[in-house]
Amino acid sequence: LVELDRAHLVHPVASYRGHERAGVRVLKSAKGAIVTDATGHSMIDGFAGLWCVNAGYGVESIVEAAAKQMRELPYATGYFSLGSESAIRLAAELADRAPGDLNHVYFTLGGSDAVDSTVRFVRYYQHARGTPQKDQFISLASGYHGSSTVGAGLTALPLFHAGFGLPFDWQHKIPSHYAYRNPVGSDPAAIIAASVAALRAKVEEIGPDRVAAFYAEPIQGSGGVLVPPDGWMKAMREVCRELDILFVADEVITGFGRTGPLFACTDEGIVPDLMTTAKGLTSGYVPMGAVFLSDHVYNTIADGAGESAVGHGYTYSAHPVSAAVGLEVLRLYEAGLLENGRRAGARLMAGLRSLSDHPLVGDVRGRGMLAAIELVTDKARKTPLPAAADPSHRIFDRAWDNGLVIRAFATGILGYAPPLCCTDADIDGIIERTRMTLDQTLE
Ligand code: PMP
Repeated sequence: LVELDRAHLVHPVASYRGHERAGVRVLKSAKGAIVTDATGHSMIDGFAGLWCVNAGYGVESIVEAAAKQMRELPYATGYFSLGSESAIRLAAELADRAPGDLNHVYFTLGGSDAVDSTVRFVRYYQHARGTPQKDQFISLASGYHGSSTVGAGLTALPLFHAGFGLPFDWQHKIPSHYAYRNPVGSDPAAIIAASVAALRAKVEEIGPDRVAAFYAEPIQGSGGVLVPPDGWMKAMREVCRELDILFVADEVITGFGRTGPLFACTDEGIVPDLMTTAKGLTSGYVPMGAVFLSDHVYNTIADGAGESAVGHGYTYSAHPVSAAVGLEVLRLYEAGLLENGRRAGARLMAGLRSLSDHPLVGDVRGRGMLAAIELVTDKARKTPLPAAADPSHRIFDRAWDNGLVIRAFATGILGYAPPLCCTDADIDGIIERTRMTLDQTLE
């Protein structure tokens, strides 16, 4: 398999000749929070695949829901005026639970095309209300909004820009709220004030009547699990309202119980104009994303749409099998999974905080089942681990050998996003194996 993978399967992020080190690691089976590789080595999946298998692996009722839908009706296009019962019901159930008046749902295949779709909807909205000059977009440093070309431009990670002239000239960035390494210090009020000032200044610089939308993740995921201070989302949402800019919350990671509630915006007490989700929506069993549009945004687009105004759609939008899985996963969230995730999340955060005294741990942060520790060689100076030593790959490899899958970011940040079904023993195992891995890294 390793040889076949090298010869034929492309993994762009790992490099095109990929996996020179040990070769691809092939997973064979999984149950609950435990994954087993092709050699029979079992590990706790501390990252729920790629922050997505929230329900855990091997849930029979999800498999049954997919099989039943495949037998009954495997496909109906959501492109034109056709549909399926499962997609319509899922849209209604989601609208019922989404914050405020986010009552309109557009289904995609994942997060990147959900973000792309918001860019389209935002532009259609600005056209429909007679402000087509509002065509500029702002997002945050350290933000991740997908790897499609448009999404990659909103994403702030340089790896996704090189060679494509990205970001586009209509895509702008302001600094992140990153508390551990913020030039304004770690005081929450100062961080919020700096972000608000940066957004105002950027809008002024671009042109007060030019900015269409601002994008933010409730917690920045791929940028290193950066948690904004309490009240940050609310403050940014308010400025956007004041400046007549649409506020887009990217909940692709934070949605579906990752931070506690079904949507992180609920805890923030905000209603965005648009919201993107994916991952936990179907818990990784089948691909699906969902864009939520507020009544105002949707009605403006729908009322203003001329003959050719809205050209957008995917063959697999609103896929009936994905929707059937989404309905079952939603049922599971409310039948105890969210509650278990909240309990396990408190245990995870307490466990990770107990590692604070480890000589390598500079920062511990997170909310619920979304967390990170940031490693340093000197706590007072916050000196990052030396990049030349390739700490992330070595730590990832060691953790794997110790029976733990984590995300090791290049910057020496270890990310945690376990399935919400984790037992106490799973969480304790994550902490224990992390400590073991850090001790070995110190040696
Ligand atoms: N937005 C955010 C916040 C994400 O974390 C991701 C994926 N990690 C995406 C968008 C893109 O989602 P996908 O990989 O499903 O295309």
